[in-house]
Amino acid sequence: MARRVHLEQPIHEEALALLRENAEVSVGFGPEARELDDALLREVNALLVRTNPLRAEEIEKASRLQVIARHGVGVDNVAVEAATQRGIPVLITPRANLRSVAEHVFALALAVSSDLVRADRYVREDRFAERDSLMGRELFGETLGVIGLGRIGEQVASMGAAGFGMRVLGYDPFVDERAVRAKGIEPVSSLDELLPACDFVSVHVPLTEETWGLLGARELGLMRPGSVLVQTARGGVVDEGALVEALRDGPLAGAGIDVFGEEPPPADHPLFSVENAVLSPHTAASTQQAMRSMGLDAARGILDILGGADALSPPPGRLWQIVNPSFVDAGERGGS
Ligand code: NAD
Repeated sequence: MARRVHLEQPIHEEALALLRENAEVSVGFGPEARELDDALLREVNALLVRTNPLRAEEIEKASRLQVIARHGVGVDNVAVEAATQRGIPVLITPRANLRSVAEHVFALALAVSSDLVRADRYVREDRFAERDSLMGRELFGETLGVIGLGRIGEQVASMGAAGFGMRVLGYDPFVDERAVRAKGIEPVSSLDELLPACDFVSVHVPLTEETWGLLGARELGLMRPGSVLVQTARGGVVDEGALVEALRDGPLAGAGIDVFGEEPPPADHPLFSVENAVLSPHTAASTQQAMRSMGLDAARGILDILGGADALSPPPGRLWQIVNPSFVDAGERGGS
């Protein structure tokens, strides 16, 4: 079976080496960069996607495409429906970055609650004497609200409870209440119930048509006075204009934000004008461990599928997962 793989953005060196050992690989970066033009699209059997968009028209032109691998979990940058229609499986690497993202949630929560960015500035700017104006706040004993109790949300809940002694409330209408309780999380049935009851709220839903603007002015207005929002899901889930208002005029005391509606955010982004927000450039999953795991899991998924593995049932020990199992229906209908 042909093994022609293209990736637009760099991946961990071990993952790239694994692909090069087992396939003909082209890349969209560095000295050997090839543009993903129509000619290349017609050649490729597999595409490995990081954060760049993969559009429906590109998938339609890729006549020999057999698999799309997403380095990470969110597939909002991939035209999954177009792949499904063409009978092409789209895989993700669901376990590779969940711990890194969960740790980053607490990096942001702690940076906000201990005013770490301002503290750093005071030391560097010879303002040590102003330290009395810095008054942190412990996470211990506070109530953490988790929106979206999937892989990352569950990990955040567990770290919050076990690591920081937080009480954890969770909202996810798609997860069984008993399963939530069994994980030590108190389920709530709506955002209206969760938001006023929490000191810290962390968002972990995928970006879809339903979750677009999930936290708007009304919802942010329901948050507990002096509370903190941590947003590492996807820009678009939180209304940024409303967030800036909630940081300026209350009820929020602070926010930790890793993801933005537009990335990179424009130079005049209103969030840059609020002091009580700690920002990171979509780096929640950018750890050495997660980069290696995401690259290797995605590369193995590509090689497994090009090698004839059943996409719906990964070989034992494999950590990739298909997000569009209905791709098989297109095959049965005679899709390419
Ligand atoms: P997941 O699919 O395991 O969990 C998502 C959960 O959200 C599911 O349990 C689902 O039921 C729930 N959900 C969906 N709609 C909801 C709604 N309207 N209200 C409440 N809950 C809802 O995904 P995951 O692996 O936990 O990742 C979550 C998201 O985190 C990803 O989709 C991605 O966008 C984001 N992410 C960001 C980074 C980063 O670098 N910042 C890295 C990885 C993932």
